[in-house]
Amino acid sequence: MNCAYRTAIAPLRDLPRSRPLPSVAETVYAERPSVPLFCLRPAAITSAAERFVARFPGRVLYAVKCNPEPALLRALWLGGVRDFDAASAAEVELIGQSFPSAGIHFMHPVKARPAIREAFVRHGVMDFAVDSADEMDKVLEEVGGDQGIGLLVRLALPKGGAVWDLSGKFGAAPGEAASLLRRARSAVRRVGLAFHVGSQCLDPAAFERALALAGRVVAEAGVTPDILDVGGGFPVAYDNVRPPEPETFFAAVARGVERLALPSTTELWCEPGRALVAAGQSVVLRVLARRDKALYVNDGIYGSLSDAGPPGFRFPTRPIAADGRILSARPLPFTIFGPTCDSADRLKEPFLLPADIREGDWIEVGQIGAYGTALRTAFNGMDEAMLIEVRDDPLSVSAASADRAA
Ligand SMILES: *Cc1c(COP(=O)(O)O)cnc(C)c1O
Repeated sequence: MNCAYRTAIAPLRDLPRSRPLPSVAETVYAERPSVPLFCLRPAAITSAAERFVARFPGRVLYAVKCNPEPALLRALWLGGVRDFDAASAAEVELIGQSFPSAGIHFMHPVKARPAIREAFVRHGVMDFAVDSADEMDKVLEEVGGDQGIGLLVRLALPKGGAVWDLSGKFGAAPGEAASLLRRARSAVRRVGLAFHVGSQCLDPAAFERALALAGRVVAEAGVTPDILDVGGGFPVAYDNVRPPEPETFFAAVARGVERLALPSTTELWCEPGRALVAAGQSVVLRVLARRDKALYVNDGIYGSLSDAGPPGFRFPTRPIAADGRILSARPLPFTIFGPTCDSADRLKEPFLLPADIREGDWIEVGQIGAYGTALRTAFNGMDEAMLIEVRDDPLSVSAASADRAA
């Protein structure tokens, strides 16, 4: 079986490949995994990338932090993604080594000096985000002046419609952003304006509002940007969240951009993470113990299920019986506890599972491709896991429970 072990943070290196890919159930019965088994669906990732690249009215940069798994990156590449939003020296290196012809863009507005140097000298990174005059000077010093680089000014946004609001940490206020645009224009030949509405943004109008603010900054600066980067934040469905269709977001971006009446030479970029990869990975958990209507499982909020902790995302599930028995059709809401010793390691929302599920059975949890494996820790020494590529379709999110929650 082409399973491989990995630890919490380091991406798996060479994933052995065999075709055709196995199914999740075949793998579970063959391996009987008692550590979390991550099931990557390359076909789902490739088609999500194809759809996004075809429909977004501009260039698509994948936000590497969302899931840096090399097999997943290959699937995105197959789907037509050629540009990457990297935020650290390690991410730059990973993309540079994986895809020598990729466009790598260093979009973190606070960078270590050696990371800037290495990105520019060793990997030919030409675009750098900045949100202060100090950071702009830092980049210019490390690359040695203009050198043909692009400087993208990160604009801070007011609190908006995203589940993860990032407005408090990065970005220049509008007045400051305008003066940074002017400063950038006098330092380099290629300047851009970038923002990020926050992750899992459920409101398409948030992009229009952000673009309107970007328009005011451009007007105040009197600088026409060569690049306008609307960031990530495009949402996906979970069992208790049903966001508007992706087209609604793309249309909002297109409308917002059109109102700015920028010249046709201004490039439009975006930096999706979640929308490209959420559906493309699941994890198979094992039930370690059952106590009445509580299940103790081998992964939790310090593992790949942090979004099911306090954020309360409800992931789709599928039970897999240990002995191949037919599980009862009657579902019960089970409280789920993760494996670490912390009592906070429990999921916020119950899982609906067959009434007769028991110790030794498995539960496949879908829709964890975004920020699932990326946020795992080694807390309590529980970082062991397996990873496999499978041929299954993604677990479908349940519209019925989304309606109930709405
Ligand atoms: C995290 C991040 C992204 C990706 O966000 P998603 O919500 O996963 O689409 C894009 N751009 C920036 C600057 C980010 O910090």
